[in-house]
Amino acid sequence: MKRAQDLKELLDRIDRRSYPAYKDTAGMYQFQNYVLSIDHVQGDPFAAPSKVSVIVNAKQAKFPEEYYGKTWRKAALQDMLIRHFFQKADRCSFQAKGSGKSGMISVSRPSQKILERSACQINEKNGEIVFRLEVGFPANGRTINSRELEKILFRFLPECVEESLYCKAYQKNQVSDVIALSDDQQFIREELKKQNLAAFIANGSVLPRATGVSDKPMNGAVKFAAPSSMEVSMQLPHAGKISGMGIRKGITLIVGGGYHGKSTLLKALESGVYNHIAGDGREYVITDETAVKIRAEDGRSVKKTDISMFIGMLPNGKDTKAFSTEDASGSTSQAANMIEAMEAGAEVFLIDEDTSATNFMIRDELMQRVVHRDFEPITPFIDRVEELYERFGISTILVAGSCGSYFHKADKVIQMNQYKPLDVTELAKKEASSFPFDPCPLKPAKTPEFSRMLFSPKIGGRDRMKVKTMGKDAVSVDRETVDLRYVEQLADTEQAVMLGMMLKYVLSTPSFGKKTLTEIVDSICETLFTKGMEGIYGGRYLPTGLALPRKQEIFACLNRYRK
Ligand code: ADP
Ligand code: MG
Repeated sequence: MKRAQDLKELLDRIDRRSYPAYKDTAGMYQFQNYVLSIDHVQGDPFAAPSKVSVIVNAKQAKFPEEYYGKTWRKAALQDMLIRHFFQKADRCSFQAKGSGKSGMISVSRPSQKILERSACQINEKNGEIVFRLEVGFPANGRTINSRELEKILFRFLPECVEESLYCKAYQKNQVSDVIALSDDQQFIREELKKQNLAAFIANGSVLPRATGVSDKPMNGAVKFAAPSSMEVSMQLPHAGKISGMGIRKGITLIVGGGYHGKSTLLKALESGVYNHIAGDGREYVITDETAVKIRAEDGRSVKKTDISMFIGMLPNGKDTKAFSTEDASGSTSQAANMIEAMEAGAEVFLIDEDTSATNFMIRDELMQRVVHRDFEPITPFIDRVEELYERFGISTILVAGSCGSYFHKADKVIQMNQYKPLDVTELAKKEASSFPFDPCPLKPAKTPEFSRMLFSPKIGGRDRMKVKTMGKDAVSVDRETVDLRYVEQLADTEQAVMLGMMLKYVLSTPSFGKKTLTEIVDSICETLFTKGMEGIYGGRYLPTGLALPRKQEIFACLNRYRK
């Protein structure tokens, strides 16, 4: 390996030469307490910045081994390192000057959620830390200004590394607190299973967010307080005893007047599939990690999805056992979203009437009298919700502010009243019993057919595919765009970028043309498990800027690919 000094000399030599001479800097250099690897050098000062990584071994970093031996701890530790590195690097960015992206130091921007990111990865076996970032190699016009790059690589970067990637940079409790929180969150996840819960929301949680475009907690919010009848306690390994509202598996309704906090509660449950950082207000809001938000999504494409459980004999004679459309209606899109979530292993559905198709959710009695069931292709969700739980083990948590019909079906009814949950199950059941419900017998649903093949047997072969991402809203591969706007639990732009990579991976793997969607997603998950993100990315150096989505979002993305 070359020495840091070699890099310095090289930089001196190429100063004021034309930009491509920077290419010679690629390679690995031994610095005092880490290895600097220049993975890819940009072609000119206006192109995407150069890719650089810093490798610190366990002996130098000195984080206790038990802090990265478990997946959830490792994720929390990596996230903490990114957070600190980001703060430091943000202050140094553009301190070195020049044209175009000269002097830019770009690090993954952490969020309220703890995600597995390519920016920082710790090898659980040997404790080696790889930290990836991007640096705009400085130039004046197109003439190399290597003095400025020297500032970055020999002054700013060592400071960032010094202050974030070594255990000694942190105060004693700073690291152990992060690890402890991750343990407690993991404990609650396991406790959900033991106590037969779909979700847990601790007393004192802050659910609303600061603004519609911020994921930070709202100041002065009404803190969450469980109704005593739903209170559940747990003895956390670090934080001790904690109490809160346990939502049992089964069918749970959230009712209440407009603006009383129903959707806010549901949103918090949607987010609860991820762990949140300390101070977020949702640290102890934990939802079954397979939970999927189900909504209507007019216009989405559907390919060969068996929605016959909800929609039969369409007027145009279309087959609903393998339903395809380029432009789904509200009800068919919601039905497809639900069946595809089942296929993706969801054990909890989260539904808000605000974003549902009414005709998918209910058919009131008067309407049933006028338009007989035989002439209505839709079997509304209300007629299947119990069956979904009893036969398929899928719980439902449903916000229904305007429709009482679900009272008949619910195991629990929670009323949000001025942001406080009340258990109104008894009252709701009593009122419902005086509103007789006349269910005409309904044939049990056929188990949906999940052996769909979505990709053409001709995929593969092309290796230069262009992947683009539009924030969290869409990814495209070779100009074919996948709309992700309504995949609401996609939490981060970096997850969308990763989905783009996965789609490209699928399209370039010929054997996937003969595999079912489930087999493809299983294979992706297996590759991630054995080879990490590198296994999907395929290129020589894994770039920064990728984050792992859940399996459910991988399904969602592949399901929305139109070609
Ligand atoms: P609903 O779905 O019942 O109509 P929302 O959940 O949309 O109501 O909430 C309405 C408003 O109240 C939102 O602006 C939200 O930010 C705010 N809000 C929700 N929960 C709280 C709370 N616990 N404390 C303070 N404000 C809240
Ligand atoms: Mg609402």
